Amino acid sequence: MTDTIWASKELAGWGRLPVVRSLCTRLERRSDAFEALADRDEQSLAAHGLGRSYGDAALLDEGRVILTRRLDRMLEFDESTGWLHCEAGVSIGDLIDVFLPRGWFPPVVPGTQFVTIGGAIGCNIHGKNHGHAGCFGDHIRQIELLCADGQIVTCGPEENPDLFWATVGGMGLTGLILSAQIQLYPVESGAIEMETIRFDSLDEFFAISADSTDYYHTVSWIDCLRSGSTMGRGVFMRGRHAPSGADDELSPGLVGRLSNLAQSLVDGRALQSNHLLNKATIRLFNEAYFHSHPAGVHRSTVACEPFFFPLDAVANWNHIYGDRGFLQYQVVVPEKQAMAHILELIAHSGMASFLAVIKEFGDADHGGLSFPCAGTTLALDFPNYGPQLFDLLDRLDEIVVDVGGRVYLGKDARLSAENFRRMYPQWQRWKSVRDQWDPDGVFQSDLSRRLQLT
Ligand SMILES: Cc1cc2nc3c(=O)[nH]c(=O)nc-3n(C[C@H](O)[C@H](O)[C@H](O)COP(=O)(O)OP(=O)(O)OC[C@H]3O[C@@H](n4cnc5c(N)ncnc54)[C@H](O)[C@@H]3O)c2cc1C
Repeated sequence: MTDTIWASKELAGWGRLPVVRSLCTRLERRSDAFEALADRDEQSLAAHGLGRSYGDAALLDEGRVILTRRLDRMLEFDESTGWLHCEAGVSIGDLIDVFLPRGWFPPVVPGTQFVTIGGAIGCNIHGKNHGHAGCFGDHIRQIELLCADGQIVTCGPEENPDLFWATVGGMGLTGLILSAQIQLYPVESGAIEMETIRFDSLDEFFAISADSTDYYHTVSWIDCLRSGSTMGRGVFMRGRHAPSGADDELSPGLVGRLSNLAQSLVDGRALQSNHLLNKATIRLFNEAYFHSHPAGVHRSTVACEPFFFPLDAVANWNHIYGDRGFLQYQVVVPEKQAMAHILELIAHSGMASFLAVIKEFGDADHGGLSFPCAGTTLALDFPNYGPQLFDLLDRLDEIVVDVGGRVYLGKDARLSAENFRRMYPQWQRWKSVRDQWDPDGVFQSDLSRRLQLT
């Protein structure tokens, strides 16, 4: 008999769609993980970090969920090489708080700092530097994994490599990550030298992107409501860490000013309704945002937070979509023409995405369930418009499948098992490794059940 406390709790991903109820236990120390595994009453388990995956990847309706955030100890750091050993509940934000003052930065960061190391490995996250640095998994040399049989197995590119690559991007389905060894990289300052460039079409976006290979970080906002000759207009952002001393010259930038305004609207609940986020208001926002960037190249030096994590400045911004939640749809397609087709369909659909981000990935592709591969990725946030949105996304899936592209599972809440298999042709190989380590399906999630992976 063990002391694990399981409490019934409502849980959701960042899109708040779906919302489920599960028996949850919060780990305070590693030993709690062994107890939770032993004390699960024969039920399946899902790991849940900071819940920043959008859909059902970290959920298990009516099942048991292990909350990992408090497993947040830094275990060992080598100041001469940047190798860090830390527990899986440490967040990217924790790493920046502790190590940026000492001249080190995480190798890959997503669009929010509120993700745990376990979540970053589980989704094999990518950042604005995919072309230069690959994915998070490329910077890990060892993972400690609590496997379904109660053993701790260490794996890395050299040791148990099959298990390692099935765990990197494995959506928490190979076991519970307890700790990892991560390579941080040296920076002279926290400031980013940034350039913004307005572009008027998708072709221009691709041209600027091709011309930006010297910039370590690139990303663009795109106006998804435009069709015809201005389809794909937007704002390109590229940057690199600034030399030492640059922290003294930071400008708050447009992002800082906009986030203050957005926070007051969210706090006042003025935006917390799907009705206020409609095509007309999104069109107004897009118009204003596009024209707030004058034509030409603009240079500024900004803090790393507004550059990497602009949305983090607005607490609980996911609540602006109201009770119905929202869907993030992120795809990668290897053909430029397919991206044009996708944008055209969205523009004509009558449904608008509030946030839209486009960028080109590098070549790094880890197979298995990992998302990034060579091509162009587009991420869209749609208010939950209901069945017409699901129909649109099904049609977009077809375009993606036809050109050999993928939907990002870390953002997904609705992909069919059939389309998943067409998008991730290496799923069987991944599953055979996974089944070897967890033959009875101890680790599951609503996503793994929906995609018939477990
Ligand atoms: C605003 C925003 C911007 C984002 N930008 C990006 C981006 O640029 N690039 C990108 O790749 N992603 C991005 N994401 C998605 C996010 O980075 C990933 O979903 C990440 O996995 C979330 O981490 P988490 O700690 O919240 O994990 P959760 O959402 O809690 O879990 C994600 C997955 O990891 C598994 N998991 C978590 N902890 C463990 C553990 N200890 N052991 C085993 N499995 C575990 C879960 O079971 C689940 O399958 C963004 C999300 C948001 C909200």
